[in-house]
Amino acid sequence: MSSLPTEKHPFAAEAFVLRHYDYSDHDRIVVLFSREFGLLRAIAKGLRRPNSKMAGRLELLRCNQFLLKRGRTLHRIEQCDTVRHFPGVYQDYDRLMVALAVGDLVSTFCQEMDPHPELYQALSVFMAHLGEETEPLIALLTFELYFLEVMGYAQDFSCCQNCGHPFGSEDRHVFHLHHGSLLCADCNPGTLVQHMPRAVGQILSWIQAEEGLPREHPNLPKALARAHFALRSFFEHIAEKEIKALHFVIPATAATR
Ligand SMILES: [Zn+2]
Repeated sequence: MSSLPTEKHPFAAEAFVLRHYDYSDHDRIVVLFSREFGLLRAIAKGLRRPNSKMAGRLELLRCNQFLLKRGRTLHRIEQCDTVRHFPGVYQDYDRLMVALAVGDLVSTFCQEMDPHPELYQALSVFMAHLGEETEPLIALLTFELYFLEVMGYAQDFSCCQNCGHPFGSEDRHVFHLHHGSLLCADCNPGTLVQHMPRAVGQILSWIQAEEGLPREHPNLPKALARAHFALRSFFEHIAEKEIKALHFVIPATAATR
């Protein structure tokens, strides 16, 4: 665990802006995910004033270098300069929703003063990649599987997680909502499960193995949507609450909802 400098001088941190809250008529609270300290909560004075110079730099998912004055629970933003921004994400509604979902996941599961530099790096890579990815859900699932691994919930989606039976092209399977795993029909416990078309397991395995996805797969949009709903249920089970931004992601196949 990193500790903040004890002296009264401002401290520096590179961070993504994950959330905003209105605090008063003029001020906002921002939740930051920093490379150095994990989550940080800070007040941005005057951010809601029309002439605020900081407002553009504190848009969601922008990466800035901050200078923060230490507070007991809430730091104060003294200065912020943009390190990276992602116009390809901000200008596309579907990509923006996926980016906000990832921001919500990080702010839900990470803690203040608990740095995860590798996760920070993964978020940087995800944001850079998302602007170019033709199917934003693939970028989301890739990040989600990585994040589950970081949290200790890694799964092998190529075989049944109860009996080890490798899934073939015809096998039906179920997703266990409380374990985050795929099970074969013989091991289906009958409750807390969602039935999954075979393509879901295949696609999760492909993403996990970092193999090239067959983009022309006839069931790709539907399978991506089903995989998204399954992982969303599992994340919410672990968090023991709704993770709102995960519900704003619009899969291409609305019919599967
Ligand atoms: Zn089984």
